[in-house]
Amino acid sequence: MYSVGIDMGSVAAKAVVFDGKTIVGTIIMPTGWSPKETGIALYDTLLEKMAISKEQVSVIVGTGYGRIALPFIDKKITEITCHARGAHFVDPEIRTVVDIGGQDSKVIRLDETGHVLDFIMNDKCAAGTGRFLQVMSHALELDVSDLSDAAKGAEPQSINSMCTVFAESEVVSLMAEGASKESIAAGLLLSVSKKTASLASRIGVVGPVYFSGGVSKNHLLREQLAERLEAEVRSCDYAQFLGAIGAAVIGFESL
Ligand code: ADP
Repeated sequence: MYSVGIDMGSVAAKAVVFDGKTIVGTIIMPTGWSPKETGIALYDTLLEKMAISKEQVSVIVGTGYGRIALPFIDKKITEITCHARGAHFVDPEIRTVVDIGGQDSKVIRLDETGHVLDFIMNDKCAAGTGRFLQVMSHALELDVSDLSDAAKGAEPQSINSMCTVFAESEVVSLMAEGASKESIAAGLLLSVSKKTASLASRIGVVGPVYFSGGVSKNHLLREQLAERLEAEVRSCDYAQFLGAIGAAVIGFESL
């Protein structure tokens, strides 16, 4: 008997299989233009990869912005609840989740049982999200996954624009003035960590903090966040799956 959690994000669709104790399988693919078609492909490919039949899956829980498009799921649960539950499952000591995804960022405070105490979300502006880093790394002709290594040890340029479009012009001007890619990359990460810390300060941060979402793969940003939040920041290689993990855990508990 298994539960499946599906997180249909704005950029990446993630799904996991849970057997009641362990996450036994994961899959990720670009969300693309149709969350419905991608969701179906994601689920079918996951079961095929795991050699699991549909009859062995007792419940499917969807989360993420695209969850409403999935016709085959049993329950839809918000990302806030799923991230909190996912964080509690992977590390019960966690009291705050900082999630930076493709199109939004959020800070969630949770209690010792994994329930949400408070949260705050920025989904109105691309600055401080994965989209911001994608646009900027494109301007720098770098892959978003190379930003951390590029920025390491560099003196950060100050990036003052709060708007992604203006910040891109600022980056182009800095390059024209001869600033190094490394120093610009460092400045961009600093701007994301400042923006995230400012969001977090509005609800208060209690450690340990779990850094999730695709942007958590950026190790330098994790270090900068720890410094700015003045808290221990934990993460792991599967932190992008946190919402899907929470969905699968909640699903299993409902059986
Ligand atoms: P969503 O749930 O909104 O689809 P995710 O949490 O899956 O978002 O994260 C997607 C984002 O993660 C993308 O915007 C991408 O730029 C970013 N990302 C992916 N890999 C890395 C990396 N190695 N470093 C920094 N950001 C990354």
